[in-house]
Amino acid sequence: MPAENRVCLGETIFDDGGAIIYDYDIPGYTVIAVKGGTILIDSSLCREDSSTGRLRFTCAHELAHWLLHKRLYSGTGESAAMMTGTNIVRTQNSALEMQANLLGSILLMPLPQVKRCFYQLQSGRDRQQLVADMAGIFQVSKQAMRIRLENHHLL
Ligand SMILES: [Zn+2]
Repeated sequence: MPAENRVCLGETIFDDGGAIIYDYDIPGYTVIAVKGGTILIDSSLCREDSSTGRLRFTCAHELAHWLLHKRLYSGTGESAAMMTGTNIVRTQNSALEMQANLLGSILLMPLPQVKRCFYQLQSGRDRQQLVADMAGIFQVSKQAMRIRLENHHLL
């Protein structure tokens, strides 16, 4: 599997201790000391050519894990990690992932603002253009915006 498929995009640390990270300067894996409540974000998401939407969604998703799941994970030594690719999934519980995705999307795309924007922009735009323009305004991916609008029957 190519290395880029193994990148951990974000990870929420629930307990004080060590976290295994990929250090691009070594290059290789290393252990760093972290405090519970730390959210680690892969630096590849912060590059200029990287998608702002992806960075923002990863941060919101990890924050949602902290808000929703800290009681569940604290004391277990487990962390919640968002990985690229499908072969390595350290967070096995898809219900928890769905919760983090949902709260993440609510944080980035609050419904009152989404609805106001939708009704202001909808005339004269086809569905594709509307999703693209709204994704730009909210700085999320087009896919995330499409899902948010579909879930509220706006598309
Ligand atoms: Zn997650």
